Amino acid sequence: MSALKCDICGGSLTMDTGGEFATCEYCAMKHNTRRLQQKVQEIRGIVKIDGSVQVDGLANLNNLLIRTREFIDKDDYAKANDYIERIFDIDTTNSDAKALHQNLCFKLDCRFLMALVDQLITLLMVLTGIIHQMPMSAF
Ligand SMILES: [Zn+2]
Repeated sequence: MSALKCDICGGSLTMDTGGEFATCEYCAMKHNTRRLQQKVQEIRGIVKIDGSVQVDGLANLNNLLIRTREFIDKDDYAKANDYIERIFDIDTTNSDAKALHQNLCFKLDCRFLMALVDQLITLLMVLTGIIHQMPMSAF
């Protein structure tokens, strides 16, 4: 139900019996139908409207998780990170996405360390080369 929240306080909105306004359960702020239409358009996924408003984003969420894992498998960490952000946009406490994010950070740390080791090896080889090129008189 991510987007059908009060603009002011984030409380849940309940449709008035007349169907012209949705009222915040918490601060009683009224949202007119035009604003509600905008909110519905902001939601990705399947929207069912029948008196009360229900939002079912689960299928979408599962697809995003699958895509994230695919990108991690392909070592495309930037794309994987984008998809994790999209999951958090829908569900900030999604535990699968959190686990994937940790996995991703771990892989990025590994990649960073390996690049560092590569650079150190290159540096060592350069230094060794310089030492070998020095005339014996330098020692
Ligand atoms: Zn409110």
